[in-house]
Amino acid sequence: MSAPSDNMPIPAQAIHSKPLLVRHLPYFIGAAILVVVAANMNFDGYVHNILLQATTFAIAVFGLSVVLGLCGQINLAQAAFFGLGAYAVGIGTTDLQVSFWLCLVGGCVISLLAGAVLGASTLRLGGHYLAMVTISFQQIVTLVMINAIWLTHGPDGVSNIKRPDLFQSSQSYLAFCVAMLAIVGYLVWHLPDTKLGRAMRAVRDNELAAGVNGIDVFRTKINAFAICALLGGLAGGLFAGGFAYVSPDQFSFAESIVFLTMSLLGGVASPIGSAIGTGLLILIPEWLRFLKSVPGLYLAIYGLFVILIIRFMPDGIWGFVSDAFARWRAKIKTPPAANALQLKPATIGGDIVLEVTGLSKHFGGLKAVDGVDIAVKRGGVHALIGPNGSGKTTTLNVLSGLYVATAGKIVLDGTDITHMPPHQRTASGLGRTFQNIRLFRSMTALENVEIGAERPGNTMVGKGDDALTERAMEALTFVGLGSRANELISSFSYGHQRLIEIARALASNPTLLLLDEPAAGLNSTEKLELHELLKRIAAQGLTILIIDHDMTLVSEAAQHITVLNFGRRIADGESMAVLRHPDVVSAYLGSE
Ligand code: ADP
Ligand code: MG
Repeated sequence: MSAPSDNMPIPAQAIHSKPLLVRHLPYFIGAAILVVVAANMNFDGYVHNILLQATTFAIAVFGLSVVLGLCGQINLAQAAFFGLGAYAVGIGTTDLQVSFWLCLVGGCVISLLAGAVLGASTLRLGGHYLAMVTISFQQIVTLVMINAIWLTHGPDGVSNIKRPDLFQSSQSYLAFCVAMLAIVGYLVWHLPDTKLGRAMRAVRDNELAAGVNGIDVFRTKINAFAICALLGGLAGGLFAGGFAYVSPDQFSFAESIVFLTMSLLGGVASPIGSAIGTGLLILIPEWLRFLKSVPGLYLAIYGLFVILIIRFMPDGIWGFVSDAFARWRAKIKTPPAANALQLKPATIGGDIVLEVTGLSKHFGGLKAVDGVDIAVKRGGVHALIGPNGSGKTTTLNVLSGLYVATAGKIVLDGTDITHMPPHQRTASGLGRTFQNIRLFRSMTALENVEIGAERPGNTMVGKGDDALTERAMEALTFVGLGSRANELISSFSYGHQRLIEIARALASNPTLLLLDEPAAGLNSTEKLELHELLKRIAAQGLTILIIDHDMTLVSEAAQHITVLNFGRRIADGESMAVLRHPDVVSAYLGSE
């Protein structure tokens, strides 16, 4: 369903004037030159092997830059996925006599599936569990490689692995691997700017905020994990074809750690970092070869080198360089002009936008919310007030799906959302901000708001990235921060960060906007600005449910007030009447 045409934003000038492929031509020319060089240089065997190793390893490390760098999930089994791909090509082209290409694809599929299954079974657990499960998976794969002798030839490994007919010579095979590296590198490089990539970055920065901004957190993590495993498998398959021999010790846990170190050393956030890290970690041991006569010294210096880099460049070598570059670019880049923001909340249901009945949330014995009814009228500002600890934030958390209700029912615009996960509630038209600001901190203001605009079912956004950017610019301009769109979150004051959070919610064109203490922590000027902003939002007909302590703001802005105390509703009705209610007066005087 699309909005009526007079409501559509007027298309602004295209933000990128040249098509994508033209803008990226230099990359492809550079890659083509590398491929031609690799195909025509007569490297001696030693150099050739180092290059082949670096090329294939880098593809596996790209995988880590997706799962760890973009999505913030740990994978300590990349060598196992690498091994799956390598053994698929190894066993396939020798014992099974299958073509190299089929084996390469087969290895990718096996790794992808293994990654998806492993991810699906553990990513809900997060953090330490994920690390442990990936280590176990790594050990299982190693054990199978060593012990399933009938299949893998055990510790002897598989030799005489075939290459494709097209790339029989060492040079041509190296050129083929370089081409694969360039293609995968290009895809990984641009992943952050796709819908999936943005979702991954949002999940990494703040899972809760990602969920309430319409992102399916669990699925995003599985996708990241599966992509990482796939790249591991692809890299392994290429490696096996290149060296014609594989054995279990090449794919051990220690190798997984090497992959991880490569990615951290170069900079986990970008494929350029991965390439740098991989190159360095393969070359450093070669440079230090002359120290090998003194036992131990070589390893000590090698380790010291790695520690020093990670200590002084915590975001890796490339992270260090690109950070400086990004700050400089934000200064010189002027954001595009924006049209006026249109808020056209859906009007499917009747007079009541949100109907909450008998809502309860108990934490053990504590009844934080206890049988609360709220009916929010369409197009008005409805305030939820009460002393500290009375259950206001908990109510909002249950409404937006961060907590599961102990009892009760929540109906948004005619849809029962009581049992939906956060991202589906957002898709149904719920927008919110947090009491303690939850922005995606590694992104710019504009990118944060783009995540909001990308909400599934947002009829105010046309197709494509430019439409998304336009909508986000409109929302940022609406809150008065359009001119600073390209700055990172850390450069904004607390008050402005709140405004960005509101813009993020507005960009999604919600049916109902939940605001949790938006005035908290603001100075008096900022409070006035916020007050004025709320009026402009309400003037467009958007329904707002606001929690606030500031009685002046509440009494002026809200037509309807619900009061909570100790998790129970003690008053509800038209603003002035509620504020004069004796129970309300005593609840406030009793607590403050
Ligand atoms: P308000 O926002 O009105 O100040 P809250 O909703 O944050 O109050 O808290 C209501 C009550 O629930 C408080 O007693 C608080 O300590 C308790 N509470 C809130 N969240 C949790 C939680 N995750 N686990 C246990 N108790 C909680
Ligand atoms: Mg609160």
